[in-house]
Amino acid sequence: MAARTPFYAMAFEDLLDEPVVQKYLHELVGPKGMPVAAAPPDGEVTDEELAERLGLELNDVRRALFILYEYDLATYRRVRDEDSGWLTYLWTFEYENIPENLREEMDRLLGALAERREYELQNEFYLCEVCSIRFEFGEAMDLGFECPECGSPVEAMENTHLVDAMDERIENLRSELGVKA
Ligand SMILES: [Zn+2]
Repeated sequence: MAARTPFYAMAFEDLLDEPVVQKYLHELVGPKGMPVAAAPPDGEVTDEELAERLGLELNDVRRALFILYEYDLATYRRVRDEDSGWLTYLWTFEYENIPENLREEMDRLLGALAERREYELQNEFYLCEVCSIRFEFGEAMDLGFECPECGSPVEAMENTHLVDAMDERIENLRSELGVKA
């Protein structure tokens, strides 16, 4: 199998086609802001121009732009119209920051997964099959190995599948990030 190009080494145009990038943008701006986030124009643009071009409510466009701004994915400068005195916001998309943002995000996720995996490996678990509630060994012992909800005996529970699934997830993230185990 040919190695995939990691997302942070991708050309700008290819980046926006990446599901992981689309998902990331979607999580930031939501469905209403997605048309704004998915079609970054070249050069400066006003919120009104974007709203008109994309056929969107001005408020939805502004909301999306300010979210992108908070995540360093857009900047603006304000220009005052000398006649009317109105302020115009001229926006520039800064999508060259996407790979770094995404990398940080995935790093965080990788850290959380590794921690969770450690917790799974360090503990023994007991399950009430009736209520689908899981207890740590210490808890189960305190409860006399009886479910506090329904009184059924709790049974020792394998978490091998869970750990395996985490290993796979961690492995995938590491390869996306280009990190060696
Ligand atoms: Zn129960």
